[in-house]
Amino acid sequence: MTIPQTMRAAVVRDFGRPLSIEEWPVPRPGPGKVLVRIAASGVCHTDLHAADGDWPVRPAVPFIPGHEGVGRVAALGAGVSHLEEGDLVGIAWLHDACGHCEYCITGWETLCEAQHNSGYSVNGCMAEYALGNAAYVARLPEHSDPVAMAPILCAGVTTYKGIKETGARPGQWIAISGIGGLGHLAVQYATAMGLRVVALDVAEDKLALARTDGAEIVVNASLDNAAQRVIDATGGGAHGVLVTAVSRPAFGQALQMARRRGTVSLVGLPPGTFETPIFEVVLKRITVRGSIVGTRQDLAEAIAFAAAGKVRAHTQTAALEDVDSVFAELKAGRVTGRVVLKLDGQ
Ligand code: NAD
Ligand code: ZN
Ligand code: ZN
Repeated sequence: MTIPQTMRAAVVRDFGRPLSIEEWPVPRPGPGKVLVRIAASGVCHTDLHAADGDWPVRPAVPFIPGHEGVGRVAALGAGVSHLEEGDLVGIAWLHDACGHCEYCITGWETLCEAQHNSGYSVNGCMAEYALGNAAYVARLPEHSDPVAMAPILCAGVTTYKGIKETGARPGQWIAISGIGGLGHLAVQYATAMGLRVVALDVAEDKLALARTDGAEIVVNASLDNAAQRVIDATGGGAHGVLVTAVSRPAFGQALQMARRRGTVSLVGLPPGTFETPIFEVVLKRITVRGSIVGTRQDLAEAIAFAAAGKVRAHTQTAALEDVDSVFAELKAGRVTGRVVLKLDGQ
C-alpha cells in the first residue's frame, strides 16, 4: 500500500473554538503500533467535551479528536505479528495501557493509570490515517460496514459494559436515561440481553427511536413526575439504571427511579457534581457506580452482538469538513443516533 506524506485531519487548536481542517504528516508506526487508513469515524459527545476542554484534565493542544475509528491496517510497526496489512480494525478510546499494573493484570485495563486515550492524550481518528496499538485495536469481521461498526467502538462497548455493571438480570427492568448515541445502542443491547427497558430522554424524537429499538416504556425526563412514572411502570423501580445523559439533574433523577437493592451505573460525563440523597441511598441499599468504556474483551463481545445483527447503530454520515456543524448539533441535542464521518479508507 502506498502511503502519502500528508493527510487531512480535523484539529482542535483552542478549546471552545471551531476545529480547523489541516494537512498533517501521516504518522509512522513505531514498534508495536499499526497505521490505520480510516474509513469511518464516529462523533461521540466525549469528542465535544475534549474540544471544549470540559474536564479536569485537558488534552494538550493541538490534537486530533476521535475514538470510534474503523479502517484497514496500512502499515505495521516493528514486532507486530498478529495483524496484517489490509486487516479491518477499530481504534477505541482505550488506546493502550501499561500491561503490568494491578489493574491491567486483573482484567481492568480501563483503570490503568498509565493508559493513553485516542483523541485525547494521543491523536485520534478524525483524520485520513491514525495510529493504533496493535495489542489494543479491535479486530472487526472482514465484511463489516465501517459506518455501522464505528459507533460500537465507544457508544456500543460503553453501554454494553455499563449495563453489565448494573447487575440487572434477564427479565428485570433497566431504566436508560439519555437516548443519544450511547443510549440508543444501550436500549438495543439491553433488549438483546433479555432485560426490559424503560427509556428516558427530554426529546420526543429520541423516545420514538427508543421504542423502535426495543423500549417497552418511554418517559419524558423533563416531566416533574418522571421518576414516579418509572417506579409505577416497573412495579417498584428499575433493578438497574444506566445514565448516559449529558445533564446533571438526570443523575439525581436516576437515583430516585432505582428499585430497592438496585444499582445505578453512571456513564454520562457532564462536568460538575450532583447531590446524593443519603437517606434514600442508605435505606433502599442502592449502589451507585461509575463505568468507563470497556476492556478489550468487553469490546470483542460488543462487536459480536453487532456482527450478529442483534444491535445496529442508527447513523447519519457527514464529511470531515462538517465536524463543527456536527458538534453544534450534538451540543443542541439535535443528533438522533450517531453521526459518523465518512473518509476515503476501505
Ligand atoms: P449524545 O449527545 O448523543 O446523547 C446525550 C443524550 O442525553 C441526548 O439524547 C439528550 O437529549 C439526552 N439528555 C439531555 N438531557 C437529558 C435529561 N435531563 N434526561 C435524559 N436525557 C437527557 O451524547 P453521547 O455521545 O451519547 O454521550 C453521552 C455522554 O456519555 C457524554 O457525556 C459522553 O462524554 C459520555 N461518555 C462516557 C463514556 C464512559 O466510558 N463513561 C463513554 C462515552 C461517552
Ligand atoms: Zn496498567
Ligand atoms: Zn466515546
